[in-house]
Amino acid sequence: MSRPIHATVHTAALIHNLQRLRLAAGDAKLWAVVKANAYGHGLERVYEGLRGADGFALLDLNEAQRLRNLGWRGPILLLEGAFEPRDLELCSRLDLWHVVHCDEQIDWLSAHKTQVPHRVFLKVNSGMNRLGFAPHRVRSAWTRLNALPQVDEISLMTHFSEAEQAQGMAPQVACFVAATADLPGERSLSNSAALLSVEGHPHAASLKNDWVRAGIALYGSSPDYPAHSSTDWGLQPAMTLSTKLLAVQALQAGDRLGYGGVFTAPGPLRVGIAACGYADGYPRHAPTGTPVLVQGVRTRLLGRVSMDMVAVDLSPLEAAGLVLGSGFGFGSEVTLWGLAAKGAVLPIDEVAHAAGTVGYELMCGVASRVTFEQSADGSNPTKRR
Ligand SMILES: *Cc1c(COP(=O)(O)O)cnc(C)c1O
Repeated sequence: MSRPIHATVHTAALIHNLQRLRLAAGDAKLWAVVKANAYGHGLERVYEGLRGADGFALLDLNEAQRLRNLGWRGPILLLEGAFEPRDLELCSRLDLWHVVHCDEQIDWLSAHKTQVPHRVFLKVNSGMNRLGFAPHRVRSAWTRLNALPQVDEISLMTHFSEAEQAQGMAPQVACFVAATADLPGERSLSNSAALLSVEGHPHAASLKNDWVRAGIALYGSSPDYPAHSSTDWGLQPAMTLSTKLLAVQALQAGDRLGYGGVFTAPGPLRVGIAACGYADGYPRHAPTGTPVLVQGVRTRLLGRVSMDMVAVDLSPLEAAGLVLGSGFGFGSEVTLWGLAAKGAVLPIDEVAHAAGTVGYELMCGVASRVTFEQSADGSNPTKRR
């Protein structure tokens, strides 16, 4: 038998989250952001759940090709545009829309031979200072693009650096609006955080969005945790990482546990050893106290995360009346994040927060040695694919 760790992608949760974000987006069209192999879930595994989106946004040309192979005929947007001139050939062939964020990309377009003009998204640097044209250069970039026979419709976009609160976005919105004031074309401003945080906010109306770009919230993680949890936003986890107990140890007072002996038992303590470590993508910096579920009962990590194993405190199971050997023990289900038996949920954001990171990093970082499976409903899978 292979190691018992596996990741499950929940199609029903993706469908639910997509509906939830559509509600927040109002009349705007919705890009499902599926970069980084759908935030680690696997493009092919999320396709069924997210095909109700108006388009897919991503970075890698090979991922765009995979989407076309899946049969997607709708819009695909390359969020960083072409990386070199010959990428434009694939854009023509696969009918990809692409961001234009710098002069070089306009130069490449002007030299590109294509039968079909390209739909482009002109990126405005409204203050994040990563990609995009400075506000005073937007008009000239637009004029240059507009004069090219290779270019069809020009849309305008920007990206927020502090979308977790409406006030954080205000200066960037003002900058974008001023820089694009009398330019025609569709607008795309909001990521998940912007989309959710302005819902019902007076600010929302001024934030004209023809296309919202939703990523993290589709996968069931709250973009502004801990200010709001995924439950607060009405989102469901799209990924479960689960494994089993490989061993149970009975520690006595003073016994040390794992590498470095950083945890010492204060008294008699049952400890479970689970088949999951940092080589599976579990964060090595998760400290003692990081939440974990065993048989759906919430407990905590103990000691240091090692390459292939973590230790968990089994006393909450005993406190819940479960008995070693019948209620729990070797082979018990351990949920690192996501859904457990009996409807228990451990949001990925809680684990990420305890480890000093964000849900994005954990879901993107599940290692290739972990077996993935897909589950149609929200329950734990019984069938592996
Ligand atoms: C990744 C990305 C998004 C999605 O952001 P989330 O926080 O995951 O919703 C939107 N726009 C751009 C340009 C991105 O790179």
